[in-house]
Amino acid sequence: MRKAAALLMTAVLLLLMVIPANAFTIIYDGKVEDYPWDPIVLVVDGHTVETKEMPPIILNGRTMVPAREFFEELGAEVTWDNNAKRVIIEYGDERIILTINSRTVYIGTNSASISPSDPPPKIINDKTMIPVRFVAEEFGFKVEWLNETRTVKITSPDAEDIRLTNVVFSSEDDTDTIFIALDEFVNPNIFRMQNPDRLVIDVYGTKSTIKDANVDVDGQAVDTLRYSQHPDRFRVVADLQTDADYEVFKLKNGIEISIIRTGEYEDSTQPPEEDFTQGDDGRLIVVVDAGHGGTDPGATYPPGVDDPQVKEKDITLDIALKIQENLEKAGIEVIMTRDKDTYPTLKERVEIANNSNADLFVSVHINAMDNKDEIDGAQVYYHESSTEGKRLASIVYRNIIDYTNLTERGVQNGSSFYVLKHTKMPAILTEGGFITNEKDRNYLMTEKGRQAMADAISDGVLEALGVL
Ligand SMILES: [Zn+2]
Repeated sequence: MRKAAALLMTAVLLLLMVIPANAFTIIYDGKVEDYPWDPIVLVVDGHTVETKEMPPIILNGRTMVPAREFFEELGAEVTWDNNAKRVIIEYGDERIILTINSRTVYIGTNSASISPSDPPPKIINDKTMIPVRFVAEEFGFKVEWLNETRTVKITSPDAEDIRLTNVVFSSEDDTDTIFIALDEFVNPNIFRMQNPDRLVIDVYGTKSTIKDANVDVDGQAVDTLRYSQHPDRFRVVADLQTDADYEVFKLKNGIEISIIRTGEYEDSTQPPEEDFTQGDDGRLIVVVDAGHGGTDPGATYPPGVDDPQVKEKDITLDIALKIQENLEKAGIEVIMTRDKDTYPTLKERVEIANNSNADLFVSVHINAMDNKDEIDGAQVYYHESSTEGKRLASIVYRNIIDYTNLTERGVQNGSSFYVLKHTKMPAILTEGGFITNEKDRNYLMTEKGRQAMADAISDGVLEALGVL
């Protein structure tokens, strides 16, 4: 047993050494571990379920999901009994009771056991995490794991097929678009295959009203398009030129897939250094993105109340406006994704940046961790594909530590953040302190604290651009 534990520790340490940046911290069973970050997609009856506070994670090879967020999304009722440390999930006329760190489960009035290969329910980062397959199957859902896209696909017993009515191809400038028309959006399972290079789009839970086809499309990146109805899925295959990449857009009436030749795409992902000193009109352009806004307050204090006293969206806006003032004084052209209490979507924020020919993108956020008020400090995230982004993150981070009173939490790989993933210019996302930590919160509530944060970020930007 001791030997096994030592081996496990070695394995964990090795893991930490191999992938230290691409990880986040999980706290459970009194342990603090770095969890290698590789997102899992949860799809229920074709709809993606996004858990906000805690992502699904894999523990001992099994997917664990935050009980409340996930099962409420399914339409189940979730109750937490703090005294008995158990979670009660009710769906239809079925009821399941799970207890933290126990494999004994009550289903209705019977008891059952979670198999030894599944982890029991656990409190991880203060969220009740439960093995999704076990519970979903008990409620009669069908559960599948799609390895290509790391998707847990769950189908409810009474799921109805959604109509798939058309597949439309178009090509304009450097972008090809495949539009799959549906009665409503269904999350596709998309993956690349080699020899020949092709993109495969599987849409489950739909019924096609069109004939199977094989068409020459002669696009920028796509040569031919084939599609057909299979027993369990509708499959679209796009034969690609080798240097193509794709992006999926969720629409009310279907799925849109944009396919771009990566040669051009990558040029704009990492502009050459001289772009910094020779903008179109000689001025450098920086996009400043104040996180959240409008209907989305971001992190709040206290968390989970109707009208919280402190909201992330207000702090990020004030810091962003101060950054704007600093950068404009230094002769930089600043484009704000918002300059008041409004909510541009993440996609809109990215479009503003990508359409503006900007040199840099800076997204300003404040962190939070509910029920862990001792956790504090600053982090700056970059996308792993961008060396300039990483350099900018390091400079800004060093400034934040120098200028503010926040604790060091490091520069981190934030490749899964939407705004970092989809912006074409070097981009960073700052998490300047925790709204849930008293010291950080009090600091950020002062004018002086927010000014120091803005000065740290804008001086970092100016240094990265070679202006300072
Ligand atoms: Zn945020």
